[in-house]
Amino acid sequence: MNSRGIVHRTLYALAGLVGIGICAAAVALLWMDRRVTWDSAYVSARNLASVLAADIGRTLHVYDLSLQGVVERLREPGIANLDPETRHRFLFDRSASAAYLGAIVVLDPEGNILYHSGAIAPPALNFADRDYFQVHRDAAGVGLFVSRSYHSRLRGGDESIAISRRISNPDGSFAGVVVGSLRTAYFRDRFAEVSIGPRDAITVFRNDGAVLLRNPYSLADADSEVDVPPDFQQYLIGREGAFVGMLSPDGVNRLYAFDAIDGAPLVIDVALAVDDLLEPWVRRVALIVPVTLALFASVLAQIVLFRREMRWRQAFEAQLALQAQTDGLTGIANRRTFDEALQTEWAAARRDRTPLSLLFLDADHFKRYNDRYGHQEGDVLLKRLALAVKDKARRPRDLAARYGGEEFVVLLPNTSRQRAAAIGESIRRAVAEQAILHEDNEGGIVTVSIGVATAIPQDDESAAGLVEAADAAVYQAKEAGRNRVAAAPA
Ligand code: GH3
Ligand code: MG
Ligand code: MG
Repeated sequence: MNSRGIVHRTLYALAGLVGIGICAAAVALLWMDRRVTWDSAYVSARNLASVLAADIGRTLHVYDLSLQGVVERLREPGIANLDPETRHRFLFDRSASAAYLGAIVVLDPEGNILYHSGAIAPPALNFADRDYFQVHRDAAGVGLFVSRSYHSRLRGGDESIAISRRISNPDGSFAGVVVGSLRTAYFRDRFAEVSIGPRDAITVFRNDGAVLLRNPYSLADADSEVDVPPDFQQYLIGREGAFVGMLSPDGVNRLYAFDAIDGAPLVIDVALAVDDLLEPWVRRVALIVPVTLALFASVLAQIVLFRREMRWRQAFEAQLALQAQTDGLTGIANRRTFDEALQTEWAAARRDRTPLSLLFLDADHFKRYNDRYGHQEGDVLLKRLALAVKDKARRPRDLAARYGGEEFVVLLPNTSRQRAAAIGESIRRAVAEQAILHEDNEGGIVTVSIGVATAIPQDDESAAGLVEAADAAVYQAKEAGRNRVAAAPA
């Protein structure tokens, strides 16, 4: 490969490297961008879950302390003997109250209302059917219980959840429950404060997997147990965690971030649609990918254009080189090419000790031809002579050339004097047989005179001697009457 080829290949390689580099950089960038986008979404989801869990946990804890206070005070002896008003103050005055908190109610072992924080004379209602009652009646060690959502009988069907604690007699037997209600509007309003997308959801689970509440809020969802992740227990053990999955029937892939609510048997789950989380990244992909492809395509186009330009230039240069070697009028080799070939063949013949022959051809009375038929016709004749000469230079290394004016040469490597003279004779005859009209020449047709010289080059001889000898032989042929072949003396 020549040095230009090396340069071209290097250029192609560099251009290819640039193209691949652009694509690799874009892929790496987008890959890192996706990781960063995802990591920050993940952290946000975890933070959201943990902030909500802490907030709800605080509210429930305050409320639970009120329940525990009532349980404590119920143990005081003589409570039943106090007058209703004093007892009411004693039991409930220190209890928490807030917009979302309903009444605190004390139920007897049969589920009847005993005391009510909102009324000194409570309505005669029975709640033995409620889960928050039954769970304590049936077991002693439940602690704080959080009920499923229900419609409050005391507050006109307002949707609530209840938290309850057991009241035990000194011997451990069941003495009733203290129950407080919390309007589910609390959660709804709390969830509305955090901004989540239309396909995102916040769910509060009980530890047993029951769905208490969900935002976007729908009562139909409550009590359902969809969305419970298969490895739910794992998150209860870990108290927090996150995973990606397609759990809900809408087929949306979501990032689920969990956090346990401290002090209550609840877990909060923030589910964010993966597509929405990655949407900013997808927008950047939609921008960067076409730009990258355009850059890559432009590099490719540059390579193609460069190749085309190079091919064109190489063809042009080859044509120039060919032109530099050929004679403009006749199209056969020119003097320069002949000189070079002569030197090469001379050296080869000297090395190989083979005979190198040279024919020197000169048109007879060409000046008169020009004078009679015009220079144009003279040129036409020169082309015909060139064809005749070239036609006889048949072996691969034979070279027919225009030496100058109306003179042609044929270089015949590894050719004996006899063989060269025979070739010369065949050229002379071929020209004569064309019978081109030349009224001012002997015989009335175009003829040529040819000198033959042959040498087995010796160390002290030069190629110029061969040309001189052939030239001298032409002179002899002219002297001897033209239209003939003369050989230089050996
Ligand atoms: P001789 O038989 O002794 O060779 O006679 P001649 O007329 O051929 O010899 P001379 O060398 O005196 O004449 C050569 C002529 O060739 C002179 C010139 O006008 C003509 N000639 C040289 N180059 C060209 C050319 O390119 N085209 C044409 N038409 N004529 C040329
Ligand atoms: Mg001449
Ligand atoms: Mg001549």
